[in-house]
Amino acid sequence: MMSPPLGLYLHIPFCRQRCDFCAFYLEIHREGRAQAFVQSLIQEIGLSAQQHVAAGRPIQSVYIGGGTPTVLATTQLIAILSGIRTHLALASDCEITVEAHPSTITEQDLVQLLQAGITRMSFGAESMEDGDLARIGRPGAVCETVTAVTQARAAGFTNISLDLMYGLPGQSLEGWQRTLAYCLTLEPTHLSCYALTVEEDTRLAFNIQRRRSPAPDESLQIEMDEAAQRMLGDAGYERYEVSNYAKPGYACRHNLLYWTNGEYLGLVPSAQSYLDGTRFGNVADLATYDTSLAENRLPIADRIRLSEKEQLRDAVIFGLRLIQGIPTHRLHQHAANYGHAAITARLLAQQLIEEDGERSRLSARGRLQADTIAGQLY
Ligand code: SF4
Repeated sequence: MMSPPLGLYLHIPFCRQRCDFCAFYLEIHREGRAQAFVQSLIQEIGLSAQQHVAAGRPIQSVYIGGGTPTVLATTQLIAILSGIRTHLALASDCEITVEAHPSTITEQDLVQLLQAGITRMSFGAESMEDGDLARIGRPGAVCETVTAVTQARAAGFTNISLDLMYGLPGQSLEGWQRTLAYCLTLEPTHLSCYALTVEEDTRLAFNIQRRRSPAPDESLQIEMDEAAQRMLGDAGYERYEVSNYAKPGYACRHNLLYWTNGEYLGLVPSAQSYLDGTRFGNVADLATYDTSLAENRLPIADRIRLSEKEQLRDAVIFGLRLIQGIPTHRLHQHAANYGHAAITARLLAQQLIEEDGERSRLSARGRLQADTIAGQLY
């Protein structure tokens, strides 16, 4: 029997500085610290291959995210990739993505990454207006995004994604539309558009409390979401998930694994994994991570085996985010399992979830409330 697809996620926990809105686990990049981290990570890849992954089970997608993977030297990224190839089997058509901050990469780096087998570059653009970037404490300038995309294409990358955020402090609907229009001139194959959310204990949350920055305006974010759907749809992008748009054939295979409740192995501090019906996560502390691996132990902090009902619950909640949706009978089975029949009926009556024949999915309005609906169905 063919094994189900398996993905590999690597979280590189370093950035040059922390953006005002960011609550990810990370440290400020220092060369010595990064070199020790790369050694630990290669050790973790080897141990994980022995303990978690059935011999020869091919990996269909690798996603190197962060943090900012490209604050590592390109030689370090290539050493990590080589560690993966040594210990794990990659499918011949494996999608291998590297996230990059546009100001941390050169044309030479891009050429070397392509030669090393990276198939997809994802640039964190956030906005195409310098004023927006300044107001969220995001280092770098729009011209660096343009240069990075141009150089990636010149290097030979044919699959290029841009990450954008909307609902930024001081950003108008017209400003967001200008950002989208500018992005379209760069002709990426994939775009992720995330509504700004205010995370606790971030500088942005502090600034909003002190009234130095406006709180996100939900109704404006809804208008911005609708504008994105309209403009990107007109330009030939398919919305395949709440926040993601792709040209036909360019949906991110790795992210689709998460939304179809597929299996993935997450490495490095704070990464989460889902294998054989079990979710497990690594310690979110770099020093503990290094110590554990120096002692030849995987740095797993928690592990939970999901019952069949819990596996179905997760499959329903993630799958509703996809435009292709889920089989309707699974939604109703989950509702019966958790006593959610009344909630589900209300979401259907309010047309936040729509059913067409045998499939169910969030409606356009439901997608704007995806996290709230997930909470209700949990
Ligand atoms: S570059 Fe990304 S990961 Fe790093 S601080 Fe900014 S938002 Fe967070």
